[in-house]
Amino acid sequence: MLAYILFVLISLFICNWFQLLTFASAVFQGKIEKEKIKDKWIYETVLQKTGLRLLDITLFKDIRMYGMMAGFRAWPKMILSEGIYKNLNKDELEWVILHEAGHCVLRHNLKSFLIELSFIVLGILFIYFNKLNLLGASLLAIILSLLCIQAIRWLIEYQADKFSIERVDDPKAVISAQDKFRKSKYKNLFSSEKSVLRFLLHWNISRSKRISMAKSLSSK
Ligand SMILES: [Zn+2]
Repeated sequence: MLAYILFVLISLFICNWFQLLTFASAVFQGKIEKEKIKDKWIYETVLQKTGLRLLDITLFKDIRMYGMMAGFRAWPKMILSEGIYKNLNKDELEWVILHEAGHCVLRHNLKSFLIELSFIVLGILFIYFNKLNLLGASLLAIILSLLCIQAIRWLIEYQADKFSIERVDDPKAVISAQDKFRKSKYKNLFSSEKSVLRFLLHWNISRSKRISMAKSLSSK
C-alpha cells in the first residue's frame, strides 16, 4: 500500500512542482505578497479576443516572470507575476494574457488533470502487476512524471501558445517577449534554453519554438 501512496505523491509533486511551490509561497507561507489589480485593458482584451469574462486578476509580487490560470472556464481567475506585468509592454503582455485565457477556453485544467490521472493509473497498474517495492515505485514515479510533463507540454502548452499567437495584434511582440525572458534578472537552473532541467521539468515549450511559431504566423 505504501508503494502506491509514495508513487502518487512523487508523481503529483514532480508534475506540478512549480504550481505547488508558487502557491505554497503565496498562500501558506506568505512569502509572495498578493494584490488584486483592476486593469481594464486586460479584462477587455481577453473578453474581445477569447470571449472569456475574467472574474479577477491577482498580481503575485514575484520577480520571476510567469502567468497562471486558477479556476475553470466558468470561474476564470488570472494570476500574473509582477515580473511579467512590469517588464512586458502591452503588445508583449497580450501574448501572455491570451495564452492564459486560452488555457481556460480550451479547458486545459481539466485536460492536464486527465493526463496526469492516466499516467497515475498506468503506474498503479504497473506496480500491482510487477509487485514493485518502494524503490521500484519511486523510480517508476520519476520516469512516468517526466513523460507526463512532455505530454502536457505538447498537448497543452503548445496549444495555448498557438491559440494566443494566432490572436495577438502583433506577433513580433511575442518574439521580443521571449528576449525579455532570456534577459530576465532572475536566473536559475531553468533559465537557459539548453538547460536539461528545463527540458525535463518545465511545462512550457521553448522560447525558440515560440519564436518560430510567431514568425510563421506573422509572415502569413
Ligand atoms: Zn501555459
